[in-house]
Amino acid sequence: MSTFKAPKGTYDLIPPYSAKYLAVRDAISAPLRKAGYGYIETPGFEDVNLFARGVGESTDIVTKEMFTLTTKGGTNLALRPEGTASVLRAALEASLHKKGNLPVKLWYSGSYYRYERPQAGRYRHFSQVGAEAIGAEDPALDAELIILADQAYRTLGLRDFRILLNSLGDKECRPVYREALQAFLRGLDLDEETVRRAEINPLRVLDDKRAEVQKQLVGAPMLRDYLCDACKAYHEEVRALITAAGVAFEDDEKLVRGLDYYTRTTFEFVHGGLGSQSAVGGGGRYDGLSEMIGGPALPSVGWALGVDRTVLALEAEGVELDIPAATSVFAVALGEAKPVLFGLVTELRKAGVAADISYGGKGLKGAMKDANRSGARFAVIAGDRDLAEGVVQLKDMESGEQSAVALAEVVEVLRAKLA
Ligand code: ATP
Ligand code: MG
Repeated sequence: MSTFKAPKGTYDLIPPYSAKYLAVRDAISAPLRKAGYGYIETPGFEDVNLFARGVGESTDIVTKEMFTLTTKGGTNLALRPEGTASVLRAALEASLHKKGNLPVKLWYSGSYYRYERPQAGRYRHFSQVGAEAIGAEDPALDAELIILADQAYRTLGLRDFRILLNSLGDKECRPVYREALQAFLRGLDLDEETVRRAEINPLRVLDDKRAEVQKQLVGAPMLRDYLCDACKAYHEEVRALITAAGVAFEDDEKLVRGLDYYTRTTFEFVHGGLGSQSAVGGGGRYDGLSEMIGGPALPSVGWALGVDRTVLALEAEGVELDIPAATSVFAVALGEAKPVLFGLVTELRKAGVAADISYGGKGLKGAMKDANRSGARFAVIAGDRDLAEGVVQLKDMESGEQSAVALAEVVEVLRAKLA
């Protein structure tokens, strides 16, 4: 072991375990790629003010969880704590909203950083796959994203998850509700920090996980009763479209989520096997965000699914992903056969066959051990005598059967057998 360890709250992804992460990212992005979402990649850090303004000055993410740094040139940066603000910043910078049809549909996959108290399912470095549909106000778009996330989880084999859905209203009705909620909260017995939160962002008090706070919230005014007709109609349409798609959800009128930019539709995917870190993903509509970061009005909707927690959820349900062995053919060279088999492996790889060879001058026993460990379906074994006859021994690693195949034909034979 070296003197160094992975920093607190982080972990390394190591084979073969790491293959699960690739499979999860692939499964989450596949439905997006087939639904017209284009891939976007943005830097791992941004101007700290992008998040302060975009995510919200009073949010936990901005006040407590950002990793910030000052460059030698004096620029204040933050490691990205989430994806939406960066993606919207990039879309505006490239004027994507002016170049094609709206909405601009984008998906991303990457690392995110939050200075949190590390625990199971909560890390300081984690990864998300996310999707954003920018520049259109259409309930079908909100529904599409929820349906695609549901499809992603179902193809992975997850069953024990629920979709919580709510509407946060818009700039017409939310301020009225906000006042009513604030008036209610002022009458409660809350600690100093929560009193401050109630003044800056009262909706987030509803999200407080503490029992002593939740107890007092009984009888609080509910946003549902304050939604304007336009928001109500919009929400009903989202609900109807998701229902028609056969996707089950639960109305959760207390769902507010921890970021300031959400309007109207908000949702969260929660899993039953994760203890208190139960949210595997979440998202919603953010009609005001573009203007908050200096852009034009661009009503948008998106989500981010946590890859780490999705892997934990799969494990909690005992789902084994169908991950094919990395190697299909493993070459074992004896005597002077190494250069010939090395050439054969190169040819197999060019032909699209996943192939590997034993390294380090091992004998038959050691090299066969390598072949077994690789999980390869076939081993190609050859020594001087085989090559003199122009053949290699092809061993079926499942049945144990072995037969001689002409060296000149072995690529085609293997391709056919593996097809
Ligand atoms: P939580 O309520 O658990 O703190 P959040 O509301 O902060 O979650 P989002 O900002 O909505 O989470 O991020 C979307 C997803 O990213 C989460 O549902 C979760 O799967 C994942 N995620 C967020 N923070 C972390 C973290 N610190 N470690 C691992 N995964 C995380
Ligand atoms: Mg959080």
